[in-house]
Amino acid sequence: MPRSRPAARRPASRTSDRAILLRRTPFGETSLVVHVLTPDHGRVELMAKGAHRPRSRFFGVLDWFDTLELSWVQRKESDLGTLREGELLHRRRQLTRSLRSYRAAQTVVELVDLVTRAGFSDREQFSLAEGALDALDRAEGPPSALLAGFELKLLDQLGLAPALVSCATCGAPAAAVDPASTEPRAPFSASVGGRLCPIHANEAHASGLRVGTLPVSILESAHFALRAPLGDLDGADWSTERSIRVLDFTGRFLDHHLETRPKSHGRFLAAPDRNRRTATRPKTP
Ligand SMILES: [Zn+2]
Repeated sequence: MPRSRPAARRPASRTSDRAILLRRTPFGETSLVVHVLTPDHGRVELMAKGAHRPRSRFFGVLDWFDTLELSWVQRKESDLGTLREGELLHRRRQLTRSLRSYRAAQTVVELVDLVTRAGFSDREQFSLAEGALDALDRAEGPPSALLAGFELKLLDQLGLAPALVSCATCGAPAAAVDPASTEPRAPFSASVGGRLCPIHANEAHASGLRVGTLPVSILESAHFALRAPLGDLDGADWSTERSIRVLDFTGRFLDHHLETRPKSHGRFLAAPDRNRRTATRPKTP
């Protein structure tokens, strides 16, 4: 679960904060219930009365991927606040002009929606979500590397980042099992927390945990994506195939740790594992 600190007790008076929309559900004929992520108040659930009326002050404001400034009233006895004012601070226009960027932004929002809960505030989580949407909005290339970087940083914030360079158990170097091959692979177990040295790979296997192997080059690229600023991942010196394989790895690792599979991951992860040995073995010796 998120490493967050409890939010300050919410006053009954009006509260304002920046916000990113996580969820939007129609309520009655004209209203909306929205879940938003804010830097200082964490995840907040708000009723936007009459938001569907064309003359509503919220009409056209509560939209996906924008940074908003919201003002609401929260009664102590209810988790649902009442939205009073809503203003658009930053619209990310490029995200709605490219389907691939739009889908990547949807994944960002859906993952943040899955890992946040009310009552905890975490400025880093908000910064990561906002930074990812900004980077996707500015990106000129395919968004796979950027999305992989976001997923790794999100895992890191949750305390779940995979060991990518050394053994997840002992921290010792985790050598490739087939160093002479065209694509050397290292033992890896999502259950144990990542890459493994031979001793701990055997130990995990003996205790019934699933241990496979992953290409060392993909793990190294993921390591780069975890550490690099998100903006640097647009146009990273990777082929499209490498970006997709790194995203496949991060998606599957995240999938292992989440209790539900995000809808936006469904199709991508339904395809065969792009890092399987059989998928990458050269056809001729
Ligand atoms: Zn080890």
